[in-house]
Amino acid sequence: MPHTPALPPVLARAASQPDVLHWRTWAALELGPALIIVGAVHGNEVCGAHACAALLEDLDAGRLTLTRGRLTVVPVANPLAFARGSREGEGNLNRRFVPQAAPASNEARIAAQLAPLLGRHDALLDLHSFHTPGEPFAMVGPLDNSGAREPFARAAEEMALACALGAPRVVQGWLEVYDAAARARGEQPGDEGIGTNEYMRRCGGYAVTLECGLHTDADAITVARRAINGALAHLGMAALPAPAPFAGQVARLRRVVLREAAGDTLARDWHSFAPVREGDVIARRASGAELRAPFDGCVLFPHPNAAVGEEFFYLAQLD
Ligand SMILES: [Zn+2]
Repeated sequence: MPHTPALPPVLARAASQPDVLHWRTWAALELGPALIIVGAVHGNEVCGAHACAALLEDLDAGRLTLTRGRLTVVPVANPLAFARGSREGEGNLNRRFVPQAAPASNEARIAAQLAPLLGRHDALLDLHSFHTPGEPFAMVGPLDNSGAREPFARAAEEMALACALGAPRVVQGWLEVYDAAARARGEQPGDEGIGTNEYMRRCGGYAVTLECGLHTDADAITVARRAINGALAHLGMAALPAPAPFAGQVARLRRVVLREAAGDTLARDWHSFAPVREGDVIARRASGAELRAPFDGCVLFPHPNAAVGEEFFYLAQLD
């Protein structure tokens, strides 16, 4: 059963036309920011698709009016994966999201259509869900920097959007630790770590991913809808009640640890955002060697069944 809630017509059609992307744009005559909201980049993460469908219905029915700027809604970014109820069609749309001259796979062909669309907007809200229990969180990219890998100058705007979505957690920093994981595997960091958000920043925009909750949890749709309202209110694009702004500590991704052998084990049944103190044992290598927290912070994205060579857990510092 790939789709638990009944499919609204716009999503039923997406599922029946896996070779067609569909989006809608409204432009208010009052100039303002250009926001693009995207659902179902991963086809089994349906909360964003449902929230986008509800947004389209509200706009169509006149229950919601765009007061300024330009709003594009892409309910289903990956129709093939959505139709199958699977994460991917032929690959991960959120990796190597770079337009190619001769796109060969489903995801490369989607990127060829979606990338120029993203590039015509200032801000991206990308709605996802996750596969283990945990609290929703918003994810932002790098701090402002002029480095070669991911130069950025809109960190403050990006963080302000992330804090406006009603999510109880905010995580900062992705590409740097993703690249570190690649180097730990002996690979050269390349386009593999470039997803929709990284591509958006390359185009001069900014982007927030919202992980809305468990794939199967109907509350994830509520979380996604609240985030959409929060984004539109924050950007002054619609008169909507805004959720209370996030005022907690931001979790800054610092480390990624790979599983090096099948015998590597997590020391506890860690959940994301579980606090750790410097020196706490987080995992043990097959050799018995202990992996201890190098600083006070929290565990993120623990994956007890990670394949050898893949990410075992992340560590973040709170500030
Ligand atoms: Zn996802």
